[in-house]
Amino acid sequence: MDPLLPFVPHVAIFPFPAQGHVNSMLKLAQLLSLSNFHISFLVTIDTHDRLLNHTDVMSRFSSEFHLQALPHGISMDEINTRDGVSKLYDSLNTIAKPFLREFLVNSPVTCVIADGILSMAADVAEEINLPIIYFRTISACAFWSYFCIPALIQAGELPLKENAMDLTVTKVKGMEDFLRGRDLPSFCRASDLTSPDFRLLMTETQQTARARGLILNTFEDLEGPILSQIRTVCPNIYTIGAVHALLKARLATKSTSSNSLWQEDESCMSWLDMHPPKSVIYVSFGSIAGVTKEDLLEFWYGLVNSEQKFLWVMRPDLIIGQEEKCQIPVELEQGTKERGYMADWVPQEKVLAHTAIGGFLTHSGWNSTLESIVEGVPMICWPRFADQQVNSRFVSEVWKMGLDIKDTCDRDIIGKSIRDLMEKRIGEFLQRAEHMASLGKRAVNEGGSSYVNLDRLIQDIRLMIPPMRQS
Ligand code: UDP
Repeated sequence: MDPLLPFVPHVAIFPFPAQGHVNSMLKLAQLLSLSNFHISFLVTIDTHDRLLNHTDVMSRFSSEFHLQALPHGISMDEINTRDGVSKLYDSLNTIAKPFLREFLVNSPVTCVIADGILSMAADVAEEINLPIIYFRTISACAFWSYFCIPALIQAGELPLKENAMDLTVTKVKGMEDFLRGRDLPSFCRASDLTSPDFRLLMTETQQTARARGLILNTFEDLEGPILSQIRTVCPNIYTIGAVHALLKARLATKSTSSNSLWQEDESCMSWLDMHPPKSVIYVSFGSIAGVTKEDLLEFWYGLVNSEQKFLWVMRPDLIIGQEEKCQIPVELEQGTKERGYMADWVPQEKVLAHTAIGGFLTHSGWNSTLESIVEGVPMICWPRFADQQVNSRFVSEVWKMGLDIKDTCDRDIIGKSIRDLMEKRIGEFLQRAEHMASLGKRAVNEGGSSYVNLDRLIQDIRLMIPPMRQS
C-alpha cells in the first residue's frame, strides 16, 4: 500500500436475512459509502438475487460496493415454524460462519458491522482480531426488554403466571409503570423457558457488550430515557435513526432508496393521488407475519364497515395455510371495489409519505413504526411477534400516537378503532404524531443527534485503521 494515499476503510456488513434487517443495514451501507468507505454487504443467495431483481442497489453507491452472496443452504422459509429460529441459526453457524471467517481473512476489511443477533460474527471477529460493531435493528425499548429477561426470570416474573398478562412487570427498568405481561416480547409468553428458541433469543441480546459499539435505528428524542438505561450496560451507542430519513437528508433528496425484496406495485401511488389529504388508512403486516383466514376476514369486515378508504398490502403468502383461494363474501368484494385498493407489495416509505394517508394499521415491526413516525402518521397496532408487542405499547402509552389492539381480532373493535383514528380522535393523535415527526426530522438534519452520531461512527471507524495504514 502506498503510504501517501489516503486509507479508505472497508466495512463488512452482515445483516440477519430478513427484509427489515436488510433494509436498515443497507441504508447504513449507503450512508457510509457517502464517506467513500468500501462496503461488502453479505446476504443469503435468495436476498442477493431479490435485491438485484427488484432494486437498483448496484447503481446507488458512489464508492466500491460488493454485494456478497453467502453459500446455499440458509433460508428464511421455515422461520414461522416450530423451532424455525433455531434451525435458521444452525444453518448460519454451519454455513455462514466458516464462510465469514474465510472472507474476512482474505479481504482487507477494517471493521465488521454485524446484526446484533448474529453473535457468530463476533466469534469470528474476535478470533481474527478485527473490530466489530453491532447494529440492532429493533427499537431501544424492545432491545431493553430483551436485555432484562434474565432479571425477569430471576424475580419470578417469567414464565408469566396465569392472569399476569395485564399486570405490570417490575424488572424492565424505566417501564415499570406501563409494561404489562402482554407487552413483553412475544417469546416471553412461552411456558417452557428452556426451549431452544427462547434461550437463543435471550442469549443473543446478552452478549451485546462484546462489540465496540451498538448502532440503533432510533433517535434520542424518541427513546431518550430507555437509551439512558441501555447506556448503563453498553456505553457506546450510536443512535442514527431514522436511518432511512438520515439517508434522505444526507442525499438531500425526497426520493427513497428502495431495498425491497419483492416487486413494488407502483400503481397504488396513482390510486392514492386521487384521494384527499388524510383520507386513506394504509394496512400492512410487514414481510414475515401471517394471518389466519378467520383473522383476515375480521380485518376485512372491520375495514369495510368503517367506511374509510383503505390501501391494503395482501402479500401472496399472507394467509397461513391457504393453498386454495378463499371465498370472499360479496359485501367485502363490493366494499373493496368502492373504497379499497389491494396490492401484493408497495413502496411503503413512499406510501406513508403520501398526503392521502391518514393512518396506518400495522403489525408494529420497527421499520414500519419508524417510517410512520417520521411521516407523522398515527397508527393502529396489531402486533404479531418478537419486538412488536413492546413497540405497540410505546406507540399507544408512551408516544400516544395511536391505538394498541393486541390480542384482539374482532371486526367491531377493528372498525371502531379505524373510525377513532381517522375521525373521532384524529386531532389528538395527529398533534402527537406531527410533533414527533418534527423531532425526527430535526434528529437527521445537520446538527441533529442522529446526524452527529453518524459522523462519530464514521470517525470511530476511521480510527480503527491500523496506524501504519493511515494517511
Ligand atoms: N415494506 C415495503 N412494502 C410493503 C410492506 C413492507 O416496502 O408492502 C417494508 C417496510 O417499509 C419496512 C419493511 O418492509 O421497511 C418491514 O419491516 P418491519 O420491521 O416493519 O417488519 P418485518 O417485516 O420485519 O416484520
